[in-house]
Amino acid sequence: MSRIAVVGAGVVGVATAWLLLRAGHQVTLIDRFKRAAEGVSEANGAQLSFAYSDALASPAIRKKLPAILLDTDPAFQIRAQLDIEYWIWGLRFLRESTSSRFEANTRYLLSMAIKSRDILAELMSHVELNFDYVSSGKMILHEKDADVMAGRSIRELKASMGLAQELLSREEATRIEPALEMYPDPISCVVYSPHDAAGRPDLFCRALVDVMRNQYGLDTNFGHEVNRLICNRGKVTGLEIDGLGCKSFDQVILATGGALDLLSPWQRPWGALWPVQGYSLTGRACLKAMRVSITDLKRKIVFARVGDEVRAAGLADIGRMKYRFDPARFATFRQAAVDAFGASFEHGADVDLTPWTGGRPCTPSSKPIIRAGPVSGLYLNLGHGTLGWTLCFGSAQELLEMMQLR
Ligand SMILES: Cc1cc2nc3c(=O)[nH]c(=O)nc-3n(C[C@H](O)[C@H](O)[C@H](O)COP(=O)(O)OP(=O)(O)OC[C@H]3O[C@@H](n4cnc5c(N)ncnc54)[C@H](O)[C@@H]3O)c2cc1C
Repeated sequence: MSRIAVVGAGVVGVATAWLLLRAGHQVTLIDRFKRAAEGVSEANGAQLSFAYSDALASPAIRKKLPAILLDTDPAFQIRAQLDIEYWIWGLRFLRESTSSRFEANTRYLLSMAIKSRDILAELMSHVELNFDYVSSGKMILHEKDADVMAGRSIRELKASMGLAQELLSREEATRIEPALEMYPDPISCVVYSPHDAAGRPDLFCRALVDVMRNQYGLDTNFGHEVNRLICNRGKVTGLEIDGLGCKSFDQVILATGGALDLLSPWQRPWGALWPVQGYSLTGRACLKAMRVSITDLKRKIVFARVGDEVRAAGLADIGRMKYRFDPARFATFRQAAVDAFGASFEHGADVDLTPWTGGRPCTPSSKPIIRAGPVSGLYLNLGHGTLGWTLCFGSAQELLEMMQLR
């Protein structure tokens, strides 16, 4: 039985700890925050979009690049940085946006999403976890027929992998999800994935951590930053943890989202990760609020029903590595969310909608970094970009297979 440390208690670290414990290992989960899921996993879009795990870099986004660079699309913002990593990442992102790379990357992500979906279903079948999970499907609202046609080959790929998507007229979709009646703009077609789901990642992580602590002997060191890796003769032997000193481990897994600072500059994969900042807001749902997750492609905003609340998430801002909450960008996002589905919140748009921001830890290809680290016994499971909640169990399983721990 190995003593394994997992650094990072977001969705990826928690999912990794679960599979390790289930395989019979002794696991310590460490995070600088006092609770699980206080990083990027805290208040994300809540979507478990198994049938919509498309790579971000695509021919469609490449076509939109001039508008994005000219600041005419409010959903995106690119601010050039004097940072060599920023440019390396950007050039790699462009290289991944050809049709063939987009298709290959999306195929990989879809197969990981399928694994994730199945592991989550198996977990939920024998452990009771309360995280406002709903499996009511997802609808993508298309404004133009041309966009629907352009997505045909990817829909065929998904169908061949058993991920059904149906094309519905606005009337057909409204019969399934009456909240579409409040949507103010024309809809040419709705792409419906009936088996997609949603749930709160923060509640999920905290509930699963409790189960792992109480029933599977998980050790947690929350509220402690890991300062450095301790290595001996090219092998990791432990961690130096703030306030706890040095602890020995046989293996260490970095599930640190977008943070690579535990690796020295010459060990880091340069230009492999950059944050794509987004915002979310959450408010009380009124009676006519949606049950099905909805993606408004025109505004690039996702909506999900989480318990008695509605969560919206959107914006893709690429700027500084260390991002911060920007009230003006949040106001742009809030207005767009309210324009689309403001009537789904209790008291319409005049209520307090809880704001949140996070940086999606994106790789140029959208494929997470799952690999052995630069020293023996060290592994990386990070960089899940826009899809960490959807992919967390699939990527944890891939890591365990690579570590030959299953
Ligand atoms: C606006 C927005 C909407 C999104 N919507 C969705 C969605 O609908 N569906 C979906 O699938 N994904 C979504 N995502 C993406 C998803 O949230 C991320 O991919 C996912 O949360 C990443 O999880 P993680 O565990 O890798 O990172 P994190 O949750 O950030 O966890 C990493 C943890 O590592 C800890 N850590 C780092 N360094 C150290 C250290 N030295 N010592 C101790 N602890 C350390 C941090 O404190 C942090 O808690 C969204 C993201 C954003 C920003």
